[in-house]
Amino acid sequence: MKKLFAIFGDPVAHSKSPLMHNCVFKYLNYDACYTRIHLKDGSKLKETFFNLKLSGANVTVPHKEEAFKACDEVRGFAKKVGVVNTLINENGRLIGYNTDADGFMFAIKEFGDIQDILVIGAGGTSKALVSRFMQDGIKVTVLNRSEGRLSYFKKLGCRCHTWDSFEAKDYDLVVNTTSAGLKDDELPAPSNLIEDVLNKTSFVADAIYGKLTPFLKLAKEKNITYKDGADMLLGQGVLANELFVNYSLEAQDIKIFMKNSFEL
Ligand code: NDP
Repeated sequence: MKKLFAIFGDPVAHSKSPLMHNCVFKYLNYDACYTRIHLKDGSKLKETFFNLKLSGANVTVPHKEEAFKACDEVRGFAKKVGVVNTLINENGRLIGYNTDADGFMFAIKEFGDIQDILVIGAGGTSKALVSRFMQDGIKVTVLNRSEGRLSYFKKLGCRCHTWDSFEAKDYDLVVNTTSAGLKDDELPAPSNLIEDVLNKTSFVADAIYGKLTPFLKLAKEKNITYKDGADMLLGQGVLANELFVNYSLEAQDIKIFMKNSFEL
């Protein structure tokens, strides 16, 4: 029987995940289809997953923390960070994983040795990335619009600031993990702060893909080497696909086919 996979999010229309995964399924002759589901109420995630008889799914903004709560079991890195972006139906039990952090490490490999990172945003994506950076011994500062979500990062031992208490230092890399610039034309912090930060960093990355966000536009104007979230998407997608299909596939092959799907 054909297996059904999906991505849950709000918004979700922009997502390239269906294209990527369907390309790999086709190449492998794997009898499956991957679609997108616009889910407004994150508390309906589990119910919707099983009602649709999904074999697996990805979860994007803003439901990754809700996805963690919905799981019957959470494995690996996702357990540590409390954030799930990949769901598997294992004999009627919902199993959660996180492939975002490893996907992002794959994406920034080309920047070389990174020792000091400023992460803007304190949502699900930020939690996964920051925990992974700390695990690798990287120095991390977190800057967020509001105070509430910073407590998680304080416990991890990061320097944490809201806009009011922030003063830019030198960084190897600044990453935007906020959704500012996704549906709107906003910068992830007031423009004077962003200007300051961009003047003091070697590299810039944005988790948002498929568009030049105002943040990346400014980095480009300042001739800073930058990348959008496309490689992160690819990295997390390769790892998610291994979980969807099976573990014996060559990651390299999956990567080539997913990358080709970007050009469609
Ligand atoms: P969450 O909803 O969990 O977190 C959103 C964060 O953005 C919060 O820190 C919030 O601050 C901040 N924020 C939202 N709007 C603004 C704004 N206008 N100005 C400043 N800060 C703002 O989202 P996720 O972590 O799940 O996703 C974040 C982004 O990363 C999304 O754009 C998503 O598409 C992208 N992403 C891309 C991936 C890829 O593969 N390339 C993978 C994962 C995510 P506050 O706490 O004050 O509300």
